[in-house]
Amino acid sequence: PGRDPRLPLKLIVAAPRGFCAGVDRAIEIVERALLKFGAPVYVRHEIVHNQYVVDSLKAKGAIFVEELDEVPDDAPVVFSAHGVPKTVPAEAERRNMLYVDATCPLVSKVHRQAERQVEKGQHILFIGHAAHPEVIGTMGQVPPGQITLVETVEDVADLDFTPEDNLSYLSQTTLSVDDTHDIIAALQERFPQIVAPKAEDICYATSNRQAAVKQIAASCDLVLVIGAPNSSNSLRLVEVSERMGTDARLIQRADEIDPSWLEGVGTVGLTAGASAPEKLVREVVDRLSDWRAVEEDIVTAAEENMIFKLPRQLTE
Ligand code: SF4
Repeated sequence: PGRDPRLPLKLIVAAPRGFCAGVDRAIEIVERALLKFGAPVYVRHEIVHNQYVVDSLKAKGAIFVEELDEVPDDAPVVFSAHGVPKTVPAEAERRNMLYVDATCPLVSKVHRQAERQVEKGQHILFIGHAAHPEVIGTMGQVPPGQITLVETVEDVADLDFTPEDNLSYLSQTTLSVDDTHDIIAALQERFPQIVAPKAEDICYATSNRQAAVKQIAASCDLVLVIGAPNSSNSLRLVEVSERMGTDARLIQRADEIDPSWLEGVGTVGLTAGASAPEKLVREVVDRLSDWRAVEEDIVTAAEENMIFKLPRQLTE
């Protein structure tokens, strides 16, 4: 019954969805580096967390590695949008390598803020998810003893600091807006003098995509989120929908959709994480249209027109 072509299916597509300005820029950096330097161009870590994007760049001559020691001294290398600890460019300089940094400017802003907080003698409580490359990158901007990771509200109670300590906080750019507010509230309650960052660290793309899915979830029986299992902002979109009481599934491609999910379903919501190309959204719409009489509607929560400049190395 999930794939009866006569049965109507209302499809609500969330906007904004998919690529953000940081992802667009990172992909363009690899493409321009390939044109300027010629293949192969090495990329340290998946440039953005999306297999389709990584495979397309591989086909053009990019080679993906996890660490710098896998890159020959004389080959160009790009650092991914998530950012890198300071030791990485330092090592590249030491080896005289040609490198291009595709760190999203909004992540770089958090990096600079971390440095300033430490210069002011503050110990940073960094809200984020352990092992995510952005977290490793940001924590690697300052000496290890000066930053502590906080993942949950429960972690706040276990922190080994007193309200008199000189503390500040920062956060990963792709967190849940709601969870982060709860953690900040808990930090402010335990450490009333804690210093806040100048501006909110969760990026515009993360907040807009969460706001859009929040707007559609209540009227859907199921929400499909296109994104990778290691994509932080995509995972958050699944959580937002589930918290609204609507089942959500994270899928990388249309062929991961099990038709049985659509049994008894009249309305499906569709969104995509910041690293998922629009082509994959259309692929999902087409697949659903093979199975059901799809009536598509778009719900827009915010307009976006952010564009980030490319590094000068690639535009000159
Ligand atoms: Fe930059 Fe936000 Fe996109 Fe991450 S999700 S690359 S921080 S714009």
